[in-house]
Amino acid sequence: MRLYNLKNHDEEVNFETAVKLGLGQQQGLFFPVKLPVIKLKDLSEILKMDFITRSTEILSKFIYNEISKEQLYIHVKKAFSFKYPLLKSITKTISCFELFHGPTLAFKDFGARFMAQMIFSMNKNNDLVTILTATSGDTGAAVAHAFYGMKNVRVVILYPKGKISALQEKLFCTLGKNIKTISINGSFDDCQKLVKEAFNDKKLKNSIGLNSANSINISRLLAQICYYFEAFSLLPKEKRNNLVIAVPCGNFGNLTAGLLAKSLGLPIKSFIACTNSNDTVPRFLQNGQWQPKKTVSTISNAMDISQPNNWPRIQELFQRKKWNLKELRFGSVSDEVTKNTLQELFELGYVSEPHAAIAYRILKNQLKKDEFGLFLGTAHPAKFKNTVEQILNNNIVLPQELKNTINLPFLSHNMNPDFKKLKQFLIKE
Ligand SMILES: *Cc1c(COP(=O)(O)O)cnc(C)c1O
Repeated sequence: MRLYNLKNHDEEVNFETAVKLGLGQQQGLFFPVKLPVIKLKDLSEILKMDFITRSTEILSKFIYNEISKEQLYIHVKKAFSFKYPLLKSITKTISCFELFHGPTLAFKDFGARFMAQMIFSMNKNNDLVTILTATSGDTGAAVAHAFYGMKNVRVVILYPKGKISALQEKLFCTLGKNIKTISINGSFDDCQKLVKEAFNDKKLKNSIGLNSANSINISRLLAQICYYFEAFSLLPKEKRNNLVIAVPCGNFGNLTAGLLAKSLGLPIKSFIACTNSNDTVPRFLQNGQWQPKKTVSTISNAMDISQPNNWPRIQELFQRKKWNLKELRFGSVSDEVTKNTLQELFELGYVSEPHAAIAYRILKNQLKKDEFGLFLGTAHPAKFKNTVEQILNNNIVLPQELKNTINLPFLSHNMNPDFKKLKQFLIKE
């Protein structure tokens, strides 16, 4: 698979290099040179396959010349070795596609676990690989679990002390083995700065095999394409014709994957890009002006992003496919409306959480006659237990995954935001 840098089309790399680098020169995103298409007659066959076989087929369309199908099957099986996504019916014309049944209870498990498999398989000399990443919550947990127990891979996660929920902290700071976590006496920005400093230290970088495994990695996007096909395969035939999918968006990776599924030939009529008050994209689609504002905090905090880093990929895809951006539907929702919507869903017999509720609200408002709508359930409500309990005035039952970790001891280190200290840690531990 060849990929070009969106900021400098002359930089072209293969899949392996794109996975290892994450970003190209000038922080440019990698984008596929060829966009494969599944023929209509093959589509019905593909839809009949089981999730692992089908996902292998789909990923193979992109990376067949670098990883054999047999090998890929083994990696996909390991990556997606948890409870598959489920469809939950909400109304006659709307269902939730729940992507949160993985080990860290958010859809990020799909991308992170496939990326971990790829990085592991590309390490042919069994060198030491150090995944260094900063997190403000969900990503850290997904990355930690994805690499947990892998030989020759060490994961070091930095997070701001006291700034993530106790539950989130429990999910990745109790693992041990090859997962090292450090709470930093500072902000998330301090954590990111430390990560940058480490990557700028060439000698350190080479000696400990630094890799960022961050969220713009192309391997994550490819993995996420697979569950859109799963959603489609789970729908009864009569609901497939005018399918609209509402995606809760932060960095717009999930939506990019959905659009790539469509470009492969999955007949999805429309997507809706759904945001909270951090509505840079909805405003852009409305008036053509790219005007990010200062990021504001909301109760759907995984979507508190005003400069979504995958957006250039979406623009490129529309251009390449000669699709009209005017056909991308959009909407944004305030915290107030999000809260009301959570209650509305509760009255319909469904306990949701703020991110999915935003997508449901916009979908419900925009769905036309004869259309069937899916909104993506991106996280388990228990991950936002306090918020959801307050709004619904009801207790949320913790799923077993969280119950298991709640009594485990914390294994985190603690550090001031001092690069010298971090460097020592990275060399010694
Ligand atoms: C990361 C995340 C999102 C946003 O997904 P993007 O791919 O960044 O657009 C939405 N909801 C939840 C719960 C998340 O963790």
